[in-house]
Amino acid sequence: MIDTCLFCKIIAKEIPSSKVYEDEHCYAFLDLHPINIGHTLLVPKEHSTNLYEIGDDTLSVLAPVVKKVAIAIKSALNANGINIEMNNDPIAGQIIFHSHIHIIPRFQGDGFKHWHGARDYHEGEMEEVAKKISLVI
Ligand code: ZN
Repeated sequence: MIDTCLFCKIIAKEIPSSKVYEDEHCYAFLDLHPINIGHTLLVPKEHSTNLYEIGDDTLSVLAPVVKKVAIAIKSALNANGINIEMNNDPIAGQIIFHSHIHIIPRFQGDGFKHWHGARDYHEGEMEEVAKKISLVI
């Protein structure tokens, strides 16, 4: 636990939250500023700043919980769909620096827009970018 970390304090129940799920490794609670009602944050209990720092063991535990919570939200709230999002680094919108996955219910006509600024590749750029990424994996 990191003393200055808001989510560590929520996991330790030093700060109240609206819990929707908890197990040995994960804690899920409602986002205080939801995109839609039921917008949930799933956090690993072990502190890590972001995706780059999460242990593979923790990630393998988180993935099925993402699915479980997403299905529960969809069912409980009669949502029409679910967005899964994780913001890593400030430029990507990360505000709290304890890894967390947003599970966001979507409703017909909710007006939430994403993928703003989608662009096209220039001639040959796509192959170049794919090669660049694949070389460092
Ligand atoms: Zn933390």
